[in-house]
Formats: sequence, C-alpha cells, structure tokens
Amino acid sequence: MRDLTTLPKANLHLHLTGSMRPATLAELAARAGLPVPDAIPAGAHGWEAFQSRYDLARAVLRTAEDVARVVAEAAADDAACGAGWTELQVDPSSYADRLGGYEAVVETVLAAAGDQVGVILVASWAGPPEQAVRMAELAARYAGRGVVGFGLSNDERRGRVEDFVPAFRVAAEAGLIAVPHGGFFEGAWHVRACVEQLGAARVGHGLTAHADPATVELLAERGVALEICPTSYPPLGVAELAGLPLRSLLAAGVPVALGTDDPLLFGHDLSGQYALAREHLALTDEDLAALARHSITASAAPADRKARLLAAVDDWR
Ligand SMILES: [Zn+2]
Repeated sequence: MRDLTTLPKANLHLHLTGSMRPATLAELAARAGLPVPDAIPAGAHGWEAFQSRYDLARAVLRTAEDVARVVAEAAADDAACGAGWTELQVDPSSYADRLGGYEAVVETVLAAAGDQVGVILVASWAGPPEQAVRMAELAARYAGRGVVGFGLSNDERRGRVEDFVPAFRVAAEAGLIAVPHGGFFEGAWHVRACVEQLGAARVGHGLTAHADPATVELLAERGVALEICPTSYPPLGVAELAGLPLRSLLAAGVPVALGTDDPLLFGHDLSGQYALAREHLALTDEDLAALARHSITASAAPADRKARLLAAVDDWR
C-alpha cells in the first residue's frame, strides 16, 4: 500500500471557516471570549446540528489577519496531504461586516492565497437570488486575479434552481467555472438541473445522482465531476461510508474528486478522505490514483500545473 500523503491531488471542495485548524479555532475563540463548538455527536443529525456549529466557528474570525491566517493554514494543511492545488470556497457576506465590505474580504483572501489556491466565491441556496447575482458580479470582477469559480453553498432545499440562472450567467460570461452544491438532500433531478440550468462544471456532492442511470450518463457524457466529501455524509444521515457509490460512479465514467468540505467539523484531512475510501470501500491504489487524476483534471488550476501534477500521479503509481 502506497503512502496517500504523497499521492498528488487537488482539493476541490473546502470552505473557509470549515478549513480552520482546531487549535486555531481554540486560540481565536479564547481571545474573543467566544465558545468553541462541540463536536457533532455520533449518529445522524439534521442540517441545524451542522449549521449551528459552523456559525459558532465563523464568529471567531474577526479581523483580516484571522482570515488570512486560516487561508494560509488551509493551504499548508492541504499541501501536507499531497495537494498541489486547493479551491477554497468563500461567501464574502459571512465576513464583510467585520472586514469592511465584500471587496475587503476578497482582497484579504486573495492576498493570503498564494499560487496554490484558487478562490471560489459562493452565495447561498438559502439567500435571495439577487444576492447571488451580486456575488457573481463580485466574482467576475476578480476573474483572472485569483477567483476561479462561482458556487452556491448551504442547504439546497432552501432555494429553487431556476431562480439562480441569472447569477450563473454572470459568472459564465466572466469565464468562471460553475460549481454549485447539489444533490445532497434533493434527488438526482437536482444534480441534472444544476448541470442543465446552471451550467455546472462540477457539482458539490451530487451523491444522489447515483440513483438515476440517466443522470449518471449525463455526468459521464459531459465530464461533469462530482466533489464527494466522504466524511460529510454520515453525520447528516445522507450515507454511510461503506455505502458510498465511488466504485460504480468511476466505472460509469463519472469524474469523481474527493474533497474535505469542512475538516474542522468532520474531522478528516484530504489524505484522510482517500484513506477512508481505501478502508471502507476497498479501493485499490489504481482506483485512488484515478480519483486523484479526476481532482486535478476537473480543477481550475493552470494547464501547466495540471500537467505537472498528472505526471506526478503516474510516478506515484
Ligand atoms: Zn460544501
């Protein structure tokens, strides 16, 4: 068995607050006199169990220095897991009050990102579609300057796909990739709608696509990747690790890329996600190399970076 921390890969699904190191959270919370969220207890929980803890963690990020530190540490932690590229999702509205506006948030993140991190600005499925247009316009202004994509996060049951078409049109016109979360709670129809209506190049999670052969075929035909984050599903009652359809999705030709989502809350880093796939799904080194290749190919990394990382995957094998 090869060392998974040396397998070259990309992390395509990671949220700013959720990337925070537990030690950093503890330090910043103590400084601010704020509580540290407890771990999500074992068993399956509703979305609120996740969101309430996420909100507590986000509250400790009070200054531009805090945000910059988290970005730099996220990049370092992924690099230590063999990632040659990380795409970090940031909802500027979450930090704008404390940092002095949307632009200040983006500037802070970009300054800390370095050349290993591509930034994805996101709006929320639970927010007004006009706000999503505003975020897409903001992302468009930073296209080619470190922002590589536009997405929608949060609970997809709280918004209607068609309402977000205008925002994704703005992003597409700026050359940004479309990376909405989808098919986490909603069925395969939602993944299909993200592809057909929003022009998704990748879907965050999209696990429910697996139940519908026509949607699986659509993803394979168009090369739309699914960002699967194994540790995100058991605590929210979506799937158990042993039930993740990674092997069948790969066999059907769907590009699957493993991501971490919110390692602060779900407790596993990027190479840990690969290790879980090896352990619970009996994926071989060849399968794991395929996942790593998909993560690189489906990324928004510069072409020369992709070529270098893909060659390094061959060397790892
Ligand atoms: Zn996510």
